[in-house]
Amino acid sequence: MSAIKLNTGLLMPLVGKGLWKVPRADAADTVYNAIKTGYRLFDGAGDYGNEKECGDGVARAIKDGLVKREELFITSKLWNTFHAKEHVPQLVKKQLADWQLEYFDLFLIHFPVSIAYVDPAVRYPPEWFVDGVSKVQLQNTPYQETWQAMEAIQEAGYAKSIGVSNVQGALLLDILKYAKKAPSVLQIEHHPYLTQQPLVDLCKELGIAITAYSSFGPTSFVELGMDKNTPSLLKHDVTAEISKATGKTPAQVLLRWATQRGIAVIPKSNDPNRLAQNLNSTDFELSTEQLKAISDLNIGLRFNNPVGVSPLLSIFA
Ligand code: NAP
Repeated sequence: MSAIKLNTGLLMPLVGKGLWKVPRADAADTVYNAIKTGYRLFDGAGDYGNEKECGDGVARAIKDGLVKREELFITSKLWNTFHAKEHVPQLVKKQLADWQLEYFDLFLIHFPVSIAYVDPAVRYPPEWFVDGVSKVQLQNTPYQETWQAMEAIQEAGYAKSIGVSNVQGALLLDILKYAKKAPSVLQIEHHPYLTQQPLVDLCKELGIAITAYSSFGPTSFVELGMDKNTPSLLKHDVTAEISKATGKTPAQVLLRWATQRGIAVIPKSNDPNRLAQNLNSTDFELSTEQLKAISDLNIGLRFNNPVGVSPLLSIFA
């Protein structure tokens, strides 16, 4: 299986490339080279601040005949400041213009947290803070309003599929009460230290595809000082042993643990060798015992919890 069939009938590649923390200066070349390497899925977001440059990379690849638009699967995300129904179409159009695209293959609500609107002409991306420094202002847009605005942009053709991210089971069940159709995708932090198996099982039951982010656990958070001094999964004894037994790299083992269980992955690398290694991670099988040994590392440890970090927002964590 190299792709997952979404509830829209569209195919989402099982392995893609994450675009968070890809520096603006390198983004166009990184995306262009990733397409050359064989990547077809790119996972972007307004919040990553590099959509124009990523779009330049895609445009160059199409112009050079490396790929056709319809062969690509471009994901982007709606930021927290734009949850009000009038801002959802405004932002999807802006983000499509940044990417130089007519439609996204998948558009997600980035976090189930609505914060005060910041005019993109004033500051973009706005991040978490209303004044760029310290003030978080909550906004009372209910998730239902945002989801229904997402349905409207899908109907208008701006996104082929729509979905959610950083949502837990209770909210997912609530969405189903008013959604015309279940979200196509749930994107969550998912790695051996945070397997979220009940949520994974619920999505399977509901026909919602899962994309895992931060598949290598703490590695992505070291540079942000948010790794909680957690031992690397890439160097863990369990991973090392399976890596030796399979002849695959620790990164390939961690990615395969997810994809073999039907979960898509979007590892981010700025390094050409690791980029190729991550893409070529689906041509082997882990045994049931190996899958279990990795799953048994679960300690429910979440690294990406911005709602819990801000003193103002921590009451919602
Ligand atoms: P990740 O892919 O788990 O890890 C990235 C880190 O691993 C980087 O430090 C990278 O370094 C290193 N790395 C990559 N491939 C490697 C390999 N083969 N061997 C050794 N090290 C390797 O983390 P992530 O960026 O947090 O998550 C992936 C993507 O998920 C993001 O880029 C973003 O698109 C998405 N995401 C979404 C959300 C959300 O809220 N929805 C949150 C976080 C992330 P080098 O670059 O130097 O190779």
